[in-house]
Amino acid sequence: MPEGPEIWRVARRLNEVLAGRVATAVEFGLDALKGAEPKLAGATIQGVRGRGKALLIDFDNGLHLYSHNQLYGRWMVIEVGEQPAPTRRRLRVAIHVSTCDALLYSASDIAVLDDAGVATHPFLSRLGPDLLAPETTEMLVSSRLRDPRFRRRRLGGLLMDQGFVAGIGNYLRCEILFVCGLHPLTTPQSLDDDDCSRLAATMLALPRQSAETGGVTNDLARYARLRDAGLSFEQARFHVFRRDGDACYRCGMAIVKARAGGQPCYLCPACQRREA
Ligand SMILES: [Zn+2]
Repeated sequence: MPEGPEIWRVARRLNEVLAGRVATAVEFGLDALKGAEPKLAGATIQGVRGRGKALLIDFDNGLHLYSHNQLYGRWMVIEVGEQPAPTRRRLRVAIHVSTCDALLYSASDIAVLDDAGVATHPFLSRLGPDLLAPETTEMLVSSRLRDPRFRRRRLGGLLMDQGFVAGIGNYLRCEILFVCGLHPLTTPQSLDDDDCSRLAATMLALPRQSAETGGVTNDLARYARLRDAGLSFEQARFHVFRRDGDACYRCGMAIVKARAGGQPCYLCPACQRREA
């Protein structure tokens, strides 16, 4: 499942090639959306933005193309005249502008919405503050952690709840908890002010670092050293995620794979002790 940083990078790429351009045609591979094709043709694309794990393409006629990639959806951009690479994936959306085609394959959660539809959309309307949105501040995230609706929940599940904050999936959840030295069963109400501030700051910093670096949540100096030593991107990018059995970078203890919030959770049993 792509997490906020991956969607943010896709949105930035699509925004670069689509924003300000007229959609000469928009085609849908889902029958239910065929009727929307003429409504979008000829409209100018104002911008492309990530919202949590979803993507919104805004048109100047007040319509928005919503897509949620789930596990398999993938956007591709091809230059005009270029043929898309052969694939078994199903083409779901094609947006044609004068310079390129933006193609979405495999996703099935797609809708064309007006402003009211965005405001009441079952996924979008439930989203908490987006950690990758510049207006989301540490103070806002801290206040979410202190909110009575959330403060008694276990962090292992809470961090991935898109209604709490939008953008964190499993790898970011594991990495944030490790950086803060917190066990997944910890609840926000058990944190003192310093720990709460540090957690809020890390919840903002790590997704933003991941978005900028293409997915590196490890300490960047350590990441560079590991790559110099011959490790692959996947081997070097994380503190703990998928590193079970390997030594913790801080204390040397073996990272373990547990379960929290319905998904595998990787943690250091020494650096992330369970609160008494
Ligand atoms: Zn450790």
